[in-house]
Amino acid sequence: MPTIISGKDVADKLKQEIAAEVTQLKDKSGRTPHLAAVLVGNDGASRTYVNAKVKACDVVGFKSTLVGLDENISEEHLLNEINKLNNDPDLDGFIVQLPLPKHIDEQKITEAIAPEKDVDGFHPSNLGKMLLGLPTFLPATPLGITEMLKHYEIPTEGNHCVVIGRSHIVGSPMSVLMWQNTYPGNCTVTITHSKTKNLKEITQQADILIVALGKPEFVTADMVKEGATVIDVGIHRVEDASKKSGFRLLGDVKFDDVAQKCAYISPVPGGVGPMTIVSLLKNTLLAAKNKL
Ligand code: NAD
Repeated sequence: MPTIISGKDVADKLKQEIAAEVTQLKDKSGRTPHLAAVLVGNDGASRTYVNAKVKACDVVGFKSTLVGLDENISEEHLLNEINKLNNDPDLDGFIVQLPLPKHIDEQKITEAIAPEKDVDGFHPSNLGKMLLGLPTFLPATPLGITEMLKHYEIPTEGNHCVVIGRSHIVGSPMSVLMWQNTYPGNCTVTITHSKTKNLKEITQQADILIVALGKPEFVTADMVKEGATVIDVGIHRVEDASKKSGFRLLGDVKFDDVAQKCAYISPVPGGVGPMTIVSLLKNTLLAAKNKL
Protein backbone atom coordinates (compact mmCIF):
# COMPACT_ATOMS: atom_id res chain seq x y z
CA MET A 1 0.00 0.00 0.00
CA PRO A 2 1.24 3.52 -0.70
CA THR A 3 2.16 6.10 1.89
CA ILE A 4 -0.60 8.70 1.95
CA ILE A 5 0.91 12.19 1.89
CA SER A 6 -1.19 13.99 4.47
CA GLY A 7 -1.08 17.67 3.61
CA LYS A 8 -3.29 18.22 6.63
CA ASP A 9 -0.73 16.74 9.05
CA VAL A 10 2.20 18.59 7.47
CA ALA A 11 0.20 21.84 7.46
CA ASP A 12 -0.71 21.41 11.16
CA LYS A 13 2.96 20.93 12.04
CA LEU A 14 4.02 23.98 10.01
CA LYS A 15 1.24 26.06 11.60
CA GLN A 16 2.63 25.23 15.05
CA GLU A 17 6.10 26.36 13.91
CA ILE A 18 4.67 29.58 12.46
CA ALA A 19 2.69 30.28 15.66
CA ALA A 20 5.90 29.92 17.72
CA GLU A 21 7.69 32.38 15.41
CA VAL A 22 4.79 34.83 15.68
CA THR A 23 5.12 34.81 19.48
CA GLN A 24 8.85 35.51 19.18
CA LEU A 25 8.25 38.29 16.65
CA LYS A 26 5.65 39.94 18.90
CA ASP A 27 7.99 39.75 21.90
CA LYS A 28 10.92 41.16 19.95
CA SER A 29 9.29 43.86 17.85
CA GLY A 30 5.73 44.29 19.16
CA ARG A 31 4.46 43.59 15.64
CA THR A 32 1.79 41.07 14.64
CA PRO A 33 1.87 39.78 11.04
CA HIS A 34 -1.17 41.07 9.15
CA LEU A 35 -2.67 39.50 6.01
CA ALA A 36 -5.58 40.90 3.98
CA ALA A 37 -7.65 39.00 1.45
CA VAL A 38 -9.63 40.78 -1.26
CA LEU A 39 -12.75 38.97 -2.44
CA VAL A 40 -14.64 40.39 -5.42
CA GLY A 41 -18.20 39.07 -5.82
CA ASN A 42 -19.94 36.16 -4.19
CA ASP A 43 -18.64 32.97 -5.79
CA GLY A 44 -19.21 30.11 -3.30
CA ALA A 45 -15.89 28.32 -3.84
CA SER A 46 -13.88 31.58 -3.69
CA ARG A 47 -15.65 32.58 -0.46
CA THR A 48 -14.84 29.17 1.06
CA TYR A 49 -11.13 29.52 0.14
CA VAL A 50 -10.92 33.07 1.49
CA ASN A 51 -12.68 32.13 4.74
CA ALA A 52 -10.26 29.22 5.20
CA LYS A 53 -7.31 31.61 4.74
CA VAL A 54 -8.70 34.10 7.27
CA LYS A 55 -9.40 31.30 9.77
CA ALA A 56 -5.83 29.99 9.38
CA CYS A 57 -4.55 33.47 10.31
CA ASP A 58 -6.41 33.24 13.64
CA VAL A 59 -4.88 29.83 14.35
CA VAL A 60 -1.29 31.10 14.06
CA GLY A 61 -1.90 34.47 15.74
CA PHE A 62 -1.86 36.74 12.65
CA LYS A 63 -4.16 39.71 12.21
CA SER A 64 -6.39 39.34 9.16
CA THR A 65 -8.69 41.59 7.17
CA LEU A 66 -11.29 40.48 4.65
CA VAL A 67 -12.00 43.11 2.01
CA GLY A 68 -15.30 42.16 0.36
CA LEU A 69 -16.10 44.06 -2.84
CA ASP A 70 -19.12 44.12 -5.12
CA GLU A 71 -19.06 41.90 -8.20
CA ASN A 72 -19.73 44.94 -10.42
CA ILE A 73 -16.82 46.99 -9.08
CA SER A 74 -14.96 48.80 -11.88
CA GLU A 75 -11.35 47.92 -12.65
CA GLU A 76 -10.35 51.46 -11.70
CA HIS A 77 -12.07 51.23 -8.31
CA LEU A 78 -10.38 47.86 -7.62
CA LEU A 79 -7.00 49.36 -8.56
CA ASN A 80 -7.67 52.17 -6.04
CA GLU A 81 -8.41 49.60 -3.33
CA ILE A 82 -5.15 47.81 -4.14
CA ASN A 83 -3.29 51.06 -3.94
CA LYS A 84 -4.69 51.66 -0.45
CA LEU A 85 -3.52 48.19 0.66
CA ASN A 86 -0.08 48.78 -0.92
CA ASN A 87 0.25 51.94 1.18
CA ASP A 88 -1.19 50.63 4.47
CA PRO A 89 1.81 50.52 6.84
CA ASP A 90 0.10 48.04 9.19
CA LEU A 91 -0.38 45.43 6.45
CA ASP A 92 2.41 42.94 5.64
CA GLY A 93 0.83 41.19 2.68
CA PHE A 94 -2.39 40.70 0.77
CA ILE A 95 -3.96 38.51 -1.86
CA VAL A 96 -6.65 39.12 -4.44
CA GLN A 97 -8.68 35.91 -4.71
CA LEU A 98 -8.88 34.65 -8.31
CA PRO A 99 -10.77 34.29 -10.57
CA LEU A 100 -11.97 37.88 -10.95
CA PRO A 101 -15.15 38.89 -12.86
CA LYS A 102 -14.65 38.90 -16.64
CA HIS A 103 -14.65 42.71 -16.98
CA ILE A 104 -11.48 42.96 -14.86
CA ASP A 105 -8.02 42.29 -16.32
CA GLU A 106 -6.41 39.82 -13.88
CA GLN A 107 -2.90 40.50 -15.14
CA LYS A 108 -3.30 44.24 -14.60
CA ILE A 109 -4.48 43.62 -11.03
CA THR A 110 -1.64 41.17 -10.32
CA GLU A 111 0.91 43.71 -11.53
CA ALA A 112 -0.64 46.48 -9.39
CA ILE A 113 0.16 44.63 -6.14
CA ALA A 114 3.39 45.88 -4.55
CA PRO A 115 5.91 43.01 -4.97
CA GLU A 116 6.93 43.25 -1.28
CA LYS A 117 3.29 42.58 -0.28
CA ASP A 118 2.59 39.97 -2.99
CA VAL A 119 2.37 36.95 -0.67
CA ASP A 120 0.71 34.87 -3.42
CA GLY A 121 3.98 35.25 -5.38
CA PHE A 122 2.18 36.00 -8.68
CA HIS A 123 3.80 39.38 -9.49
CA PRO A 124 6.16 39.16 -12.53
CA SER A 125 9.01 40.50 -10.40
CA ASN A 126 8.58 37.71 -7.82
CA LEU A 127 8.16 35.04 -10.53
CA GLY A 128 11.34 36.36 -12.18
CA LYS A 129 13.25 36.10 -8.90
CA MET A 130 11.96 32.54 -8.47
CA LEU A 131 13.26 31.64 -11.94
CA LEU A 132 16.71 32.94 -10.94
CA GLY A 133 16.60 31.07 -7.62
CA LEU A 134 16.68 34.36 -5.65
CA PRO A 135 14.90 34.76 -2.28
CA THR A 136 11.27 35.74 -2.89
CA PHE A 137 7.66 34.81 -2.21
CA LEU A 138 7.12 31.48 -4.00
CA PRO A 139 3.60 30.83 -5.35
CA ALA A 140 1.67 29.17 -2.53
CA THR A 141 0.59 25.89 -4.13
CA PRO A 142 4.00 24.93 -5.60
CA LEU A 143 5.69 26.00 -2.35
CA GLY A 144 3.28 23.77 -0.41
CA ILE A 145 4.07 20.81 -2.66
CA THR A 146 7.82 21.23 -2.10
CA GLU A 147 7.15 21.26 1.67
CA MET A 148 5.23 17.97 1.35
CA LEU A 149 8.06 16.34 -0.60
CA LYS A 150 10.54 17.55 2.05
CA HIS A 151 8.47 16.33 4.98
CA TYR A 152 8.18 12.80 3.53
CA GLU A 153 11.85 12.91 2.40
CA ILE A 154 10.86 11.86 -1.10
CA PRO A 155 13.97 11.63 -3.30
CA THR A 156 13.98 13.99 -6.26
CA GLU A 157 17.58 14.29 -7.55
CA GLY A 158 17.98 12.75 -11.01
CA ASN A 159 14.34 11.61 -11.06
CA HIS A 160 11.89 12.35 -13.85
CA CYS A 161 9.14 14.74 -12.76
CA VAL A 162 6.16 15.16 -15.08
CA VAL A 163 3.85 18.12 -14.46
CA ILE A 164 0.39 18.14 -16.07
CA GLY A 165 -0.79 21.74 -16.59
CA ARG A 166 1.10 24.95 -17.32
CA SER A 167 -0.95 27.61 -15.47
CA HIS A 168 0.88 30.63 -14.07
CA ILE A 169 -0.18 29.77 -10.53
CA VAL A 170 0.52 26.03 -10.41
CA GLY A 171 2.04 24.10 -13.33
CA SER A 172 4.61 26.59 -14.65
CA PRO A 173 6.16 27.61 -11.30
CA MET A 174 6.00 24.00 -10.10
CA SER A 175 8.05 22.82 -13.06
CA VAL A 176 10.69 25.49 -12.32
CA LEU A 177 11.01 24.49 -8.65
CA MET A 178 11.47 20.84 -9.62
CA TRP A 179 14.46 21.50 -11.90
CA GLN A 180 16.28 23.96 -9.63
CA ASN A 181 19.64 22.97 -8.18
CA THR A 182 18.40 22.30 -4.64
CA TYR A 183 16.25 19.86 -2.67
CA PRO A 184 13.51 19.20 -3.57
CA GLY A 185 14.62 19.72 -7.15
CA ASN A 186 17.33 18.53 -9.50
CA CYS A 187 14.71 16.54 -11.39
CA THR A 188 14.57 16.13 -15.12
CA VAL A 189 11.26 17.89 -15.77
CA THR A 190 8.67 17.44 -18.49
CA ILE A 191 5.79 19.93 -18.50
CA THR A 192 2.66 18.86 -20.37
CA HIS A 193 -0.47 20.80 -21.37
CA SER A 194 -3.64 20.68 -23.45
CA LYS A 195 -1.68 20.44 -26.74
CA THR A 196 0.61 17.62 -25.58
CA LYS A 197 0.50 14.47 -27.74
CA ASN A 198 0.69 10.95 -26.27
CA LEU A 199 0.29 12.18 -22.69
CA LYS A 200 -0.03 8.67 -21.29
CA GLU A 201 3.36 7.61 -22.71
CA ILE A 202 4.93 10.59 -20.95
CA THR A 203 3.18 10.20 -17.59
CA GLN A 204 4.10 6.49 -17.53
CA GLN A 205 7.76 7.59 -17.31
CA ALA A 206 7.23 9.82 -14.28
CA ASP A 207 8.92 9.04 -10.98
CA ILE A 208 7.03 12.07 -9.64
CA LEU A 209 3.74 13.06 -11.30
CA ILE A 210 2.22 16.42 -10.37
CA VAL A 211 -1.31 16.79 -11.69
CA ALA A 212 -2.90 20.25 -12.11
CA LEU A 213 -5.17 20.30 -15.13
CA GLY A 214 -8.58 20.82 -13.53
CA LYS A 215 -10.42 17.72 -14.82
CA PRO A 216 -11.98 15.40 -12.20
CA GLU A 217 -10.37 11.93 -11.96
CA PHE A 218 -8.52 12.44 -15.27
CA VAL A 219 -5.40 10.47 -14.28
CA THR A 220 -6.08 6.74 -14.20
CA ALA A 221 -3.91 3.82 -13.06
CA ASP A 222 -2.75 2.95 -16.61
CA MET A 223 -1.10 6.41 -16.86
CA VAL A 224 1.11 5.86 -13.79
CA LYS A 225 4.38 3.97 -13.33
CA GLU A 226 4.62 1.36 -10.57
CA GLY A 227 6.20 2.95 -7.46
CA ALA A 228 5.63 6.57 -8.55
CA THR A 229 4.87 9.56 -6.32
CA VAL A 230 1.61 11.25 -7.36
CA ILE A 231 0.62 14.73 -6.19
CA ASP A 232 -2.97 15.72 -6.96
CA VAL A 233 -3.59 19.48 -7.12
CA GLY A 234 -7.12 19.41 -8.59
CA ILE A 235 -10.18 20.33 -6.54
CA HIS A 236 -13.71 19.76 -7.83
CA ARG A 237 -17.03 19.97 -6.06
CA VAL A 238 -19.41 17.26 -7.27
CA GLU A 239 -23.00 17.03 -6.12
CA ASP A 240 -23.59 14.40 -3.46
CA ALA A 241 -26.97 14.29 -1.75
CA SER A 242 -25.58 12.01 0.99
CA LYS A 243 -23.36 14.83 2.28
CA LYS A 244 -24.61 17.56 4.59
CA SER A 245 -22.95 20.19 2.37
CA GLY A 246 -24.62 18.70 -0.73
CA PHE A 247 -21.27 18.06 -2.42
CA ARG A 248 -18.04 16.11 -2.09
CA LEU A 249 -14.56 16.92 -3.30
CA LEU A 250 -12.67 15.09 -6.04
CA GLY A 251 -9.17 15.60 -7.37
CA ASP A 252 -7.68 15.31 -10.86
CA VAL A 253 -6.55 11.76 -10.02
CA LYS A 254 -8.74 8.63 -9.74
CA PHE A 255 -7.42 8.05 -6.24
CA ASP A 256 -8.56 4.49 -5.41
CA ASP A 257 -7.17 3.00 -8.64
CA VAL A 258 -3.97 5.03 -8.85
CA ALA A 259 -3.10 4.50 -5.18
CA GLN A 260 -2.65 0.75 -5.82
CA LYS A 261 0.42 1.50 -7.97
CA CYS A 262 2.06 4.34 -6.06
CA ALA A 263 4.76 4.59 -3.44
CA TYR A 264 3.33 7.94 -2.29
CA ILE A 265 0.08 9.72 -3.16
CA SER A 266 -1.64 12.88 -1.91
CA PRO A 267 -5.43 12.69 -1.39
CA VAL A 268 -8.21 15.22 -2.07
CA PRO A 269 -9.31 16.60 0.32
CA GLY A 270 -6.51 16.76 2.90
CA GLY A 271 -3.60 16.91 0.45
CA VAL A 272 -2.40 19.98 -1.44
CA GLY A 273 -5.26 22.26 -0.28
CA PRO A 274 -4.13 22.72 3.36
CA MET A 275 -0.52 23.15 2.16
CA THR A 276 -1.51 26.04 -0.12
CA ILE A 277 -2.99 27.88 2.84
CA VAL A 278 -0.03 27.27 5.15
CA SER A 279 2.35 28.47 2.41
CA LEU A 280 0.45 31.72 2.25
CA LEU A 281 1.00 32.06 6.00
CA LYS A 282 4.72 31.31 5.54
CA ASN A 283 4.98 34.03 2.90
CA THR A 284 3.14 36.52 5.13
CA LEU A 285 5.48 35.79 8.05
CA LEU A 286 8.43 36.34 5.68
CA ALA A 287 6.91 39.67 4.55
CA ALA A 288 6.54 40.73 8.20
CA LYS A 289 10.14 39.76 8.98
CA ASN A 290 11.39 41.57 5.86
CA LYS A 291 9.96 44.80 7.32
CA LEU A 292 12.01 44.63 10.52
P1 NAD B 1 -5.90 26.14 -15.26
O1 NAD B 1 -7.25 25.85 -15.83
O2 NAD B 1 -5.42 27.55 -15.20
O3 NAD B 1 -4.82 25.31 -16.08
C1 NAD B 1 -5.04 24.01 -16.47
C2 NAD B 1 -3.87 23.53 -17.30
O4 NAD B 1 -4.10 22.18 -17.66
C3 NAD B 1 -3.64 24.31 -18.57
O5 NAD B 1 -2.30 24.72 -18.63
C4 NAD B 1 -3.96 23.33 -19.70
O6 NAD B 1 -3.08 23.46 -20.81
C5 NAD B 1 -3.75 21.98 -19.03
N1 NAD B 1 -4.61 20.95 -19.58
C6 NAD B 1 -5.94 21.01 -19.82
N2 NAD B 1 -6.36 19.85 -20.37
C7 NAD B 1 -5.28 19.06 -20.48
C8 NAD B 1 -5.08 17.75 -20.98
N3 NAD B 1 -6.09 17.03 -21.49
N4 NAD B 1 -3.84 17.22 -20.94
C9 NAD B 1 -2.80 17.94 -20.43
N5 NAD B 1 -2.94 19.19 -19.92
C10 NAD B 1 -4.17 19.74 -19.97
O7 NAD B 1 -5.88 25.45 -13.83
P2 NAD B 1 -5.04 25.73 -12.49
O8 NAD B 1 -5.40 27.06 -11.95
O9 NAD B 1 -3.61 25.37 -12.67
O10 NAD B 1 -5.74 24.63 -11.54
C11 NAD B 1 -5.72 23.25 -11.85
C12 NAD B 1 -6.54 22.50 -10.82
O11 NAD B 1 -5.96 22.68 -9.53
C13 NAD B 1 -7.99 22.98 -10.66
O12 NAD B 1 -8.81 21.88 -10.33
C14 NAD B 1 -7.92 23.95 -9.49
O13 NAD B 1 -9.16 24.06 -8.80
C15 NAD B 1 -6.90 23.26 -8.63
N6 NAD B 1 -6.15 24.12 -7.72
C16 NAD B 1 -6.01 23.68 -6.45
C17 NAD B 1 -5.26 24.41 -5.54
C18 NAD B 1 -5.09 23.87 -4.15
O14 NAD B 1 -4.72 24.61 -3.27
N7 NAD B 1 -5.32 22.58 -3.94
C19 NAD B 1 -4.67 25.60 -5.93
C20 NAD B 1 -4.80 26.04 -7.25
C21 NAD B 1 -5.54 25.27 -8.15
